Amino acid sequence: LRLASAVFAYSAHDPRDFRGPGAPEIAFAGRSNAGKSSAINALAGRKRLAFASKTPGRTQLINFFTIAETAFLVDLPGYGYAGVPMEVRDHWDQLVGNYVGTRPSLAGVIVVMDARHPLTPLDKRLLHWLLPSGRKVHVLLTKADKLSKQAQQRTLSAARRELMEVYPGATLQLFSSTKREGLSEAGAKISAWVAD
Ligand code: GDP
Repeated sequence: LRLASAVFAYSAHDPRDFRGPGAPEIAFAGRSNAGKSSAINALAGRKRLAFASKTPGRTQLINFFTIAETAFLVDLPGYGYAGVPMEVRDHWDQLVGNYVGTRPSLAGVIVVMDARHPLTPLDKRLLHWLLPSGRKVHVLLTKADKLSKQAQQRTLSAARRELMEVYPGATLQLFSSTKREGLSEAGAKISAWVAD
C-alpha cells in the first residue's frame, strides 16, 4: 500500500454524502490539537494533505483521501474543542457516530493521542463509543519527541495498561510526526488492515 500516493477525494458534511462503500477505509480520530493532521501528512509523506481546522465551531467535515482506488484514508473531525456550540457537538456525534457505527468498508480506526497526556476522558468516550461496533483500533501516542526516551517507555506501558481496560484488543505505539518516528510500524498496521 503506497500511502504516499494518497490524494483528496471528497468531503462529507452529512451521512448522505458518503459514497457507496468500496475500497477499505482507515479512519483517523483524535482530540483537536493532538496531532492528527500532522500524523496523516507524515504517513502520506506530504506537507498539507490533511489540514488542521484551527477554527473551533466551524463546519465539521469528514475528508476522504484515496490511495490509487485500493484504500481510503479518512480524516474524521477532531473532538474536544472548548466552547464549541452544542449544535456543532451534536453534528459531530451524528456524523461520526453514523460513520463508525454503520460504514461497512471501515477497516480500522487510528486514534491519535498526545503522548504527554494520553487517554483523556474524551479519548475514552470515543473508545467506549467504538466498542459496540467492534472496530479495530490502533493508538498513536504522538509528539513522542517531546518526551525523553525513558519517559516514552514509561508512557507506553502505562498507556497500554489503561488502554487494555477500556478497549481490549486495541494496539498502540509511540509516534512522532516531526521526527518521523513510528512511521513504518503505523504503515504496517494500516497495510495489514487493508489486506484483511
Ligand atoms: P490536529 O488538530 O490533531 O490535526 O493537530 P495538528 O496536526 O495540527 O498538530 C497540533 C500541533 O502539534 C501543531 O502545532 C503541530 O505542529 C504540533 N505537532 C503535531 N505532531 C507533532 C509531533 O509529532 N511532534 C511535535 N513536537 N509537535 C507536533
